[in-house]
Amino acid sequence: MTTSRIAGFYDLPMSQRLNRLAEASGLTPTDLAPFQTLGLDLLLADHMVENAVGTYNLPLGIGLNFVVNGREVLIPMTIEEPSVIAGASFMAKLVRAGGGFIATTTEPEMIGQIQVLDIEDLLIASMKLGEQKAELLAEAKTIDPVLEKLGGGARDLEIRIIEDSPIGPFLVLHLIYDVRDAMGANAINTACEKLAPHIERITGGRVHLRILSNLADRRLAKANCTVPLNKLAFTSKDGRSFTGEQVRDGIIEAWAFAAEDPYRAATHNKGIMNGVDAVVISTGNDWRAIEAGAHAYAARNGRYTSLSTWGMDEDGNLTGELEMPMAVGIIGGATKVHPTAKAAIKLMNVKTASELGEITVSVGLAQNLAALRALATEGIQRGHMSLHARQVAIAAGATGAQIDKVATQMVVEKKVRPDRAEQIMKSIQ
Ligand code: NAD
Repeated sequence: MTTSRIAGFYDLPMSQRLNRLAEASGLTPTDLAPFQTLGLDLLLADHMVENAVGTYNLPLGIGLNFVVNGREVLIPMTIEEPSVIAGASFMAKLVRAGGGFIATTTEPEMIGQIQVLDIEDLLIASMKLGEQKAELLAEAKTIDPVLEKLGGGARDLEIRIIEDSPIGPFLVLHLIYDVRDAMGANAINTACEKLAPHIERITGGRVHLRILSNLADRRLAKANCTVPLNKLAFTSKDGRSFTGEQVRDGIIEAWAFAAEDPYRAATHNKGIMNGVDAVVISTGNDWRAIEAGAHAYAARNGRYTSLSTWGMDEDGNLTGELEMPMAVGIIGGATKVHPTAKAAIKLMNVKTASELGEITVSVGLAQNLAALRALATEGIQRGHMSLHARQVAIAAGATGAQIDKVATQMVVEKKVRPDRAEQIMKSIQ
């Protein structure tokens, strides 16, 4: 039986944390061993990219307290930034008091783009493509028998005319392709390449680009949460008290800023991506694809805005929603190759890409809540500073017990700077 609540996890030494994690998840420490043996060995790395000379490691921590669609889930989060994992875990605790995250995904449909140039009459070519759509789709269905067997494959063809471009008008075909549990880039790129000669024959044009679009706006994930009003009230470490209403209204006011102002929205969405990317990286997925999709989606109406929405329900509880493209897979790419990614997927016990998408978008919403709550109350720096101070201390050369000593003094002095860290180091020595 899995629980995502592990009391005192933070205080355990790292070696014991893995055992507690195994107990809580119903897995064995061996299942989770890649988290502590650095997962990717040199041989594998050499197979994955060109000119490999080594690997690069990042911390992997566990987001606690998450309940997504009624299921307890432990979240593997790979990230170099302090406070993110603590923030997500704390917010997940507040959200679980309101029933946890409710998340959904649309069908895993990706878009493949085929650019057709040198067409004499775009309207006639579009008409011909429309007439031959059934044949083209039938052809597309033969391309990936594995996907077809799994219930995926070609779904539709959309014809677009780009009227105004630096090289004049041209035609674009969108192949809508259900990629099931894959991220789908390779699958869809292959399908677009195979269809290209048929499209040239029908249109008399020249097919140029054949590639998926990372604006995966047909493959969306959405998370909703409710935080009971009484869970929002708190007293900060410097003794300031905030009522539930103050915190709730402060969060809604902070969101309104992001909803209207792209300068703020960029930072607001970056906070969401702190959580999303941490899961995406842990599972060996393509975080550049997720980033590109998220930000393009945030600008889909012509003005860049917040990916999330905050408000209140009729009882005055805080409500949040996050919707974004979610092209993540549990097969293909590095997901089935990287030992740490495989352990991460095992830990979350996800059986479909949709389930992974639902968890990932929930973590994004939790992270957004953590940032808004901090910004709207005590400010982001207080929570951030103690961990940040440790990084500054390490960068200044502190080791072992020195790290906490130097960090604590900098925080007390409110001077978390490399020069101060070096001075404190010298005075200790
Ligand atoms: P893939 O080609 O490795 O695997 C997908 C294939 O696995 C499918 O075509 C299918 O034949 C098979 N399969 C078996 N079981 C399946 C199941 N349950 N569901 C779906 N397919 C199943 O992987 P991919 O997801 O097509 O490609 C992902 C990789 O492509 C990532 O590494 C990404 O970085 C890379 N990529 C991204 C871009 C981009 O985002 N612009 C461009 C090119 C490549």
